[in-house]
Amino acid sequence: MTDRKAQLAANLAQVEERISAACAAAGRKREEVTLVVVTKTYPADDVRLLAELGVRHVAENRDQDAAPKAAECADLPLTWHFVGQLQTNKVRSVASYADLVHSVDRSRLVTALSAAAVRAGRELGCLVQVALDAEARAEGTAGRGGAAPDAVPDLADAIASAPGLRLAGLMTVAPLSGVYAGRQRAAFDRLMEISSGLRVAHPTANMVSAGMSADLEEAVAAGATHVRVGTAVLGVRPRLR
Ligand SMILES: *Cc1c(COP(=O)(O)O)cnc(C)c1O
Repeated sequence: MTDRKAQLAANLAQVEERISAACAAAGRKREEVTLVVVTKTYPADDVRLLAELGVRHVAENRDQDAAPKAAECADLPLTWHFVGQLQTNKVRSVASYADLVHSVDRSRLVTALSAAAVRAGRELGCLVQVALDAEARAEGTAGRGGAAPDAVPDLADAIASAPGLRLAGLMTVAPLSGVYAGRQRAAFDRLMEISSGLRVAHPTANMVSAGMSADLEEAVAAGATHVRVGTAVLGVRPRLR
């Protein structure tokens, strides 16, 4: 094994241990939680090593980096998740390789993703990204994308009725501002509550994407089905983005 592969294997084992322990503590089965490894800023070679080590879900947040990486890794048995803020002019590219888009936060994006998915002859799973700091943000604090909780039902309905799209569930990033700042567990509990409401109208939209390297335990405890882990598997990213 190369040094890099051994390092990734050790990191993966540690993350696996954390997820298993969090599932056990919450009385959940390990199979209820899917690890999505966020490979942004890391090369296609790392994606290949991760696939050899058994990773099946990877995520990217910038189309410029993701598109060539996905093309280089097209032979691997991977599900590609797009988790970054998405401009409509990138949608055609993203729809060509992504299986799931976690960051749907406005109706224009739904329209564009639908057209691109139909054009590509693919079905795209879509998650509504929920901004739990929408209020703080409205007052001028920098945010990280996402729709306000009260916009979720309409966006979900739009996705569910859009050709080429499948409503998969909800995603959030623990807020840095607003009433949930520093309260990851409370934030993820709130996301679960919104998810319960969503599933009344859309019972199959049961994906809950929450939790990153620093807070995956809180997300698993709250009920997340997908954790998005970058740093804890690949190392501290070389450049901030
Ligand atoms: C980068 C990123 C992650 C992973 O974050 P880490 O702290 O490196 O685990 C998860 N979700 C989104 C949306 C990201 O952009």
